[in-house]
Amino acid sequence: MIIGARTVVTMDGPPIQDGAVAVSANRIVDVGKFDEIKARNAGEVIDLGEQALLPGLINAHCHLDYTCLRGKIPPQKCFTDWIRAINAEKAKLSPNDYLGSINAGFAEAKRFGTTTIANLTAFPDLIPQIHAPIRTWWFAELIDVRAPGRANEIVDLAIKSLKFAENWGLAPHALFTASRNLYRRCQEIAQRENVLLTTHLAESGEEMQMCHDASGPLYEFLKSIGRPMDDCGNETPLHLFLGGIPSTSLRTSSDRALPRWILAHLNKLAESDFELLEKSKIRFHGVHSPRSHDYFKHSRFPFERLRALGFNICLGTDSLASNESLSLFAEMRAFQKNFPSVSPEEILKMVTVNPSMGLHQENMLGRIRPGFRADLIAVQCNEGENAFEQIVAFDGSIDWIMVNGKM
Ligand SMILES: [Zn+2]
Repeated sequence: MIIGARTVVTMDGPPIQDGAVAVSANRIVDVGKFDEIKARNAGEVIDLGEQALLPGLINAHCHLDYTCLRGKIPPQKCFTDWIRAINAEKAKLSPNDYLGSINAGFAEAKRFGTTTIANLTAFPDLIPQIHAPIRTWWFAELIDVRAPGRANEIVDLAIKSLKFAENWGLAPHALFTASRNLYRRCQEIAQRENVLLTTHLAESGEEMQMCHDASGPLYEFLKSIGRPMDDCGNETPLHLFLGGIPSTSLRTSSDRALPRWILAHLNKLAESDFELLEKSKIRFHGVHSPRSHDYFKHSRFPFERLRALGFNICLGTDSLASNESLSLFAEMRAFQKNFPSVSPEEILKMVTVNPSMGLHQENMLGRIRPGFRADLIAVQCNEGENAFEQIVAFDGSIDWIMVNGKM
């Protein structure tokens, strides 16, 4: 099959005007000027006309469990109050509600041109009942703050369900809800099974206050529910995180060029954190969620400093308990508003090329290149105007999408 469009944005150099992509089964087999592709490849021709054809978008951090909580939690006085509010909402939901929520989330993400999603779920046991319509990395979100001493049991139980998924990983929730043993167990399993890891780190000022000063609303709340707080009072969240997992695993894994950890947020880093990162040369994939960040009114995301250190920065929507929609286009625009000097091309990389590296799929996803998976979308694009600018500005649903070679 040959798909032609006014502009083909491969993410490998400048867009190709009057371009085309040849697809066979679920793979891209050729890309170039329409006339050349037509001469080299046989098959049905689809002409998308005045559109830009680009790789399907990749959401690097999301919780589809909470799609049904859109608009349910107004911005709260502090992060800890938001945790209380989401816990109260969650108490009203049944497994069936969560199933509906996850399915609705998949449909919405796809409508906005997302073809791959890194989805954290607190309910891995629901995975066998879900037919994901897009490429999905299922991360079991794991918490043992109310179940001390049961870290191994919690991880092992989740893995039984995760194995129903084609792609999976582990997500110890955050330093304040997951014990050091839980992090260690996830790390061990990830190495053994060659899967990815993600966690929420350094998200809020309250997390910094808890870890570094042993005080503040998050500290008081967790103490009240019985979390042992003896790890608090000395270190920043990043120092605690790095101290809790074996240093060998922070280096590149044996068969991959990049480390396994995808760190969500990294909003609140201290000077000592930057010094440590500078000295240690430890690098991570980082996920920034611009609209959720604005909702919580976190301090400015240190994008420039993390980028200068060599972090691979991706964008994610986070959940609809702190966001309005699952559109990565809206996420790109929110990022652009906060960081106007970053080029639209670099912003588009944060939902294509960069997350493909985070998922260790840099040879399969995120670009239009022969041999890559045929995950493609098209958006309206006028001739003569910058394609990257038009893509980032695109505000609406996608009319044309191909996932794994299927339209
Ligand atoms: Zn999250």
